[in-house]
Order: sequence, then C-alpha cells, then structure tokens
Amino acid sequence: MGMTAEMVRAKFVECGAILEGHFLLSSGLHSPTYLQCARVLCHPEVAAELGRELAGLVGQEGVGLVVSPALGGLIIGHEVARSLGVRHLFTERVEGRMVLRRGFTVEPGERFLVVEDVLTTGGSTREVITALEALGAVPAAAAAIIHRGAGDAPLPVPFHSLLRLEIPSWVPDACPLCRRGGPPAVKPGSRNLS
Ligand SMILES: [Zn+2]
Repeated sequence: MGMTAEMVRAKFVECGAILEGHFLLSSGLHSPTYLQCARVLCHPEVAAELGRELAGLVGQEGVGLVVSPALGGLIIGHEVARSLGVRHLFTERVEGRMVLRRGFTVEPGERFLVVEDVLTTGGSTREVITALEALGAVPAAAAAIIHRGAGDAPLPVPFHSLLRLEIPSWVPDACPLCRRGGPPAVKPGSRNLS
C-alpha cells in the first residue's frame, strides 16, 4: 500500500501514457489530452500494484464481485478482483447496450464493484450499474485509476480513484481546437498517433 497520487501520475508520464493533441474520447467529447492507460497496464507488475491500491481504497464495501466495461476496464478490473479475492466479470456493448455475455451470471442481491481505467463522465460505469441491477445485483461502489472529469463523479454509489486530473473536455460544438481549424479530433490509439 501507499502509492500517492503523485506517484501514480509519475508512472503514467514515465510510461508515455499521457498524450497531447486533439482527441475524440469514447464519451463523444473532444480533449487536448488523452490518457492511454494501456501503456501503463501493459506492464503486469504495475497493473497488479495499481489493482492492489484501488482494492485498498475500496476496502470494506463488502463486494462479492468486480464488474468492468470492456475493453478499457478489463485489466485493472481483473487486478482489483484478484486483490479482493472475488471474481471479475465484464460487460460488452451489443447493439448499443451494455450487457453481460460469456455465460456470466450474478446472484440476486449480490453486491458488486464497478472498475474502469479512466472515469470521465461516468457514463460507462452507470451503464454497467444499470445492466447488473437489471439482473438483481446491487451496486456497492465504483472505482477508477484516474478520475479526469470536472466536479464529483455523478454516480449513485461511492467512488474511489487513485489520481484526480483536471483535463478539459468539450462537446464538439464547443471545442476550441475545432474552432481553431487545425487537424480534426482523432480517436486515441488510431494510426494518427505517433
Ligand atoms: Zn475538437
């Protein structure tokens, strides 16, 4: 235990996981900065350490399982679940809806923790909560390595993160980078990234 927010940030910088440019986020927002968490989580020992830290923050929420939205939440969710000693499921988007597949099941009343790599608007986490609640499970808490949204995460459960980053993001119509007329926003991970 004991990674400070500054240590987490330093690890991301060291791994080249904080990118500058003009990005289209999965939330639909545009931003001058993108966190490429995969560049941190590709180091298994670092992923395990971050998972232990998050599990320590969540502590005694009494969760029976961890659930993550694929793809971004898979590795960190797995590591948090390993540390908590519970199973890890993931949801996938099918025709626009977040659902459990793969034969995953939950028990009615089972308490779950939602884990993502980065939480921006909280939309994916809320979708996971809705999908699992529909199956009778009970949301206990949510966690992400990084919270990059402005203000408190608008979630119906306690939320934990290892690092808070105030990174601007805008709806496309209000994006100053678009107005400036430079290169269009790119999806992170595309070949436009060097
Ligand atoms: Zn833009």
